[in-house]
Amino acid sequence: MTHSRQPGEGCAHHPAGIPGIPGDLRQAWADVVATARRTATEGLVVGTSGNVSARVGDVVLVTPSGVPYDRLGPADTVGVDLRTGRQVLGDLPPTSELPMHLAVYRATGATALVHTHAVHATAVSTLVTELPPVHYMTAALGGPVRVAPYALYGSDDLAAHVLEALRDRTGCLLRNHGTLTYGTTLEQAYDRTAQLEWMCRVWLTASSVPGRTPTLLGPGELSEAAAKLRGYGRPG
Ligand code: 13P
Ligand code: ZN
Repeated sequence: MTHSRQPGEGCAHHPAGIPGIPGDLRQAWADVVATARRTATEGLVVGTSGNVSARVGDVVLVTPSGVPYDRLGPADTVGVDLRTGRQVLGDLPPTSELPMHLAVYRATGATALVHTHAVHATAVSTLVTELPPVHYMTAALGGPVRVAPYALYGSDDLAAHVLEALRDRTGCLLRNHGTLTYGTTLEQAYDRTAQLEWMCRVWLTASSVPGRTPTLLGPGELSEAAAKLRGYGRPG
């Protein structure tokens, strides 16, 4: 059956949302949409680029493919079964990067994931195979951030490359494409993307000064920073 409903319209009988969606999924969907909108308003993506997801139990809520985030409402909830990959909620097609999202959830402790085409990160992805550790916030992502080899967007190959690049890391770059970070909350996953983009900008800025090469941090300095960051922002 085809559906004539457009994103954001709600359905005629239940304009506030799809009946029968549990409250925790409804709240998680609102958070997914808010995070996706933030990627656009804060300049990390243009148009419908990028995608965001969150896992609630065995259901992964994902942004739909090719739909502007400001048009998404409660009735546009898209949910996929983590194990089978089958769509269990909604009628809009899930993000084309579903294989990548599912692969990360299946292989890590992630419960939230953000993928963007942030400018500086994408530029760096074309220059190096690992972001040189110019800043101690490298430690917040688990160590020097790798660049996953290029593969077609939405492909199983890209998902496999990303998983490899994420080993012991909570973020990576995708060559000639963008960023991926994950976390236990959407806020954490988003913040990691913002920090990664910022570090890429720092490295590009420092490394573009003619005749000078940026100093880098060594493994000892990074592990010292990692230890201190574990208590960052916590009382005592
Ligand atoms: P979707 O609109 O299908 O999520 O694709 C955007 C994207 O960034 C693909 O890599
Ligand atoms: Zn993309």
